[in-house]
Amino acid sequence: MSNFFYKVRCGIERFMYGRNGTDPLNVALLVLYIVLCLTQWIVVFFLPYQIVSLLFSAVLVAIVVVMFFRIFSRNLEKRRQENARFLNWFLPRQRAAANWRFRMRDRDHKYFKCRGCGARCRVPRGKGRIEITCPRCGEKIRGRS
Ligand SMILES: [Zn+2]
Repeated sequence: MSNFFYKVRCGIERFMYGRNGTDPLNVALLVLYIVLCLTQWIVVFFLPYQIVSLLFSAVLVAIVVVMFFRIFSRNLEKRRQENARFLNWFLPRQRAAANWRFRMRDRDHKYFKCRGCGARCRVPRGKGRIEITCPRCGEKIRGRS
């Protein structure tokens, strides 16, 4: 029996050789697929029209088609570029979301964004009206902490 599984694995490996397989973009498509599946239930509950579920089905099928196309694709260069474009878009947003979660948890400080250079300045909370000077560009930031 284990020999059988070994053969299947070898077969899959041979088939996948030179193909794209999964990459972060495909993982993101899978996450998008799952999120849309869950959203579909809620939306169809409030908008029980056939066109709504048809639209959802069309989008879900399209995502699956794109996913399988990318997994089995032999055009590695093209897929690599798509993935790089996706990561260029995604990684800054992921970082921004992580920063935002960090600031939300930091109850002792208030964060100001400098209008001059976009730097984040951290001030202890509860100081009332304050005026700070941006350490990066020298712009004055006024606010309430
Ligand atoms: Zn600044």
